[in-house]
Amino acid sequence: MYKVWIDAGHGGKDPGAVANGVLEKDIALKVSLGIKDRLESLYEDVQVLLSRSTDVFLELRDRTAKANAASADILVSIHCNAGGGKGGFESFRYTSASQNSIKLQDTLHKSITAKLGGTDRGQKAQNLHMVRESKMPAILTENLFVDVAADADRLKQSIVIDAIIDGHVQGIATYLGLAKTKEDKPLTSEVMKQLEKLKAIVESQAKWIAAQKTREDMECPKWAESAYEYFKDYLSGKTGSYDFWRLLVVSYRKDEEIKAHKKQTKISP
Ligand SMILES: [Zn+2]
Repeated sequence: MYKVWIDAGHGGKDPGAVANGVLEKDIALKVSLGIKDRLESLYEDVQVLLSRSTDVFLELRDRTAKANAASADILVSIHCNAGGGKGGFESFRYTSASQNSIKLQDTLHKSITAKLGGTDRGQKAQNLHMVRESKMPAILTENLFVDVAADADRLKQSIVIDAIIDGHVQGIATYLGLAKTKEDKPLTSEVMKQLEKLKAIVESQAKWIAAQKTREDMECPKWAESAYEYFKDYLSGKTGSYDFWRLLVVSYRKDEEIKAHKKQTKISP
């Protein structure tokens, strides 16, 4: 089982860069949670550990201390840029980076820029705490500039966040040589029927939520709640490169609870 450490930059009292209505800490968190979701759903034998999964403040030394103590195999620190650039993506390794860190940077950088497009500011080396103090191969990604209006506009689109997440996920999977979650085995028609039913449940619930803008008195299985975020984008025509149906299938296979999906979980408002 590989351990991937994802470090969402900033948080809590430290918003990171703030401009054009975009907070770096929010983008970093959204991307980090998305990477965990997709990497664990789509690939076998990988666990994603997070510096933070909520909007909390953490010292840099605590982030690397935790990742080192967990003996993570790789570390990726997620940030957005600001201050003097004209926009685009760049990545950083340590100035005396190991061969594996260089390989990790090269693999992720290519994967992310391929998904994201726009200006490629290059693979850079800098004496940054996160890449210096991490014992495992480590890189830091600067995902667009919050203080460049065009980049900030992109960061407000879920299709762009999707591309950033996908780029990281595919890069990490390539670097670690992860195998995709088994999907060769065809689904039985019985399972397909059940999935169609479940899809209809999620769809009607998603529509209901969208209409009511509240989850009061909502009932749906846990897995459906997590799938809802993707489904929301599907309904509004902003699916991006991520395939909701695939998520549904993967969730179905992974989630034991689904077997008892009739015992629906009450979601508190
Ligand atoms: Zn930052």
